[in-house]
Amino acid sequence: MKRVVIVGGAGRMGQALASGLGALDDVRVVALVDLHEPADLHGATFVSALDDVDASLIDAVVDFSSPESVVTSAQWCATHHKGLVIGTTGLSEDQRASVVAAATATGIVMASNFSVGAVLSERFAALAAPYFDRVEIIELHHDRKVDAPSGTSLSTARAISDARKAAGLAAMVDPTSRATVAGSRGAELDEGVKVHSVRLPGLVAHQEILFGAAGEGLTIRHDSFDRASFVHGVAIALRAVSAQPSMTIGLDSFIVT
Ligand code: NAD
Repeated sequence: MKRVVIVGGAGRMGQALASGLGALDDVRVVALVDLHEPADLHGATFVSALDDVDASLIDAVVDFSSPESVVTSAQWCATHHKGLVIGTTGLSEDQRASVVAAATATGIVMASNFSVGAVLSERFAALAAPYFDRVEIIELHHDRKVDAPSGTSLSTARAISDARKAAGLAAMVDPTSRATVAGSRGAELDEGVKVHSVRLPGLVAHQEILFGAAGEGLTIRHDSFDRASFVHGVAIALRAVSAQPSMTIGLDSFIVT
C-alpha cells in the first residue's frame, strides 16, 4: 500500500486524482496539500503546506500544482527521501534544474502527459516520422490552461525530430514565404516541427499529429475526454517510483508493448 500526498489537491487534477487513486487497492491518499481547501477531501486530510505533513506517515508525493510549487515539493522529497511524481507543466529551465538536482537524493518521475493513450500516440508518431515529408501538431486544451504550447506537444515534437534526425532527414523548411498575419503558421520547434495551440471552453486535453507526404496523409489523434484518463498513468508512476535517486522523464519506459 502506497501512502500518498497530492500537492495541488484542491485543483481540477488534484480532485480527479484524489478520487481515482483513492479507489485503487494499493494506493491510499493521506493528505491533500493546497493553498485553499479542496471542495471534496475524498477521505484525506487538508494541509496547507508540505512542511505540515508528517513524513513518516507517507511514501510518495504527487504534484499537479504550479511550477513554483514543484520546486518546493522536489526539495521536500529530497530532504525526506520520498518518491515524487510530477505532472505539473510549464516549468522554466531553472525550475527543471532544481527538480533534476533533487533527483540526486530521491526518485522522481516527471511526465507532461500521464494518459497512456497519449504516450502511445507519441510512440506511433516517432514510428511514422521518418516516412513523411512534413508534420504539424495541433494541441487543443480547455481555456483555463495557463501555458502554451502544451508539455505534451513539446514532448511529441521532440520524439518526432529525434526520429527524423536518427533517419538522417534534413530539417523541414516552412514553404510559406509570406504570413499575412504574424503567427498564422504556429510556433516552429526543433527540425521545423510546427505546433498550433487551441484553447476553448469544454475541451479537456486533445492532440492531433498530422503527417503529409506525396499523395497521402496520416493523422494520429488522442483525446482525454475526462481527467480520469490521467489516473492510470499516475498509478503506474507511483508503483515505480521509490526513494532511490533517479530521474525518469515520461511514462514511456514503464509502458512495454
Ligand atoms: P488547477 O489550477 O485546477 O489546480 C492547481 C492547484 O494547485 C490549485 O488548487 C492551486 O491552488 C494549487 N497550488 C498552486 N500553487 C500551490 C502551492 N504553492 N502549494 C500548494 N498548492 C498550490 O490546475 P489543473 O488543471 O489541476 O492542473 C495542474 C497542473 O497539472 C498544470 O500544470 C497542468 O498543466 C498539469 N496537468 C498535467 C497533466 C499530465 O498528464 N502531466 C494533466 C493535466 C494537467
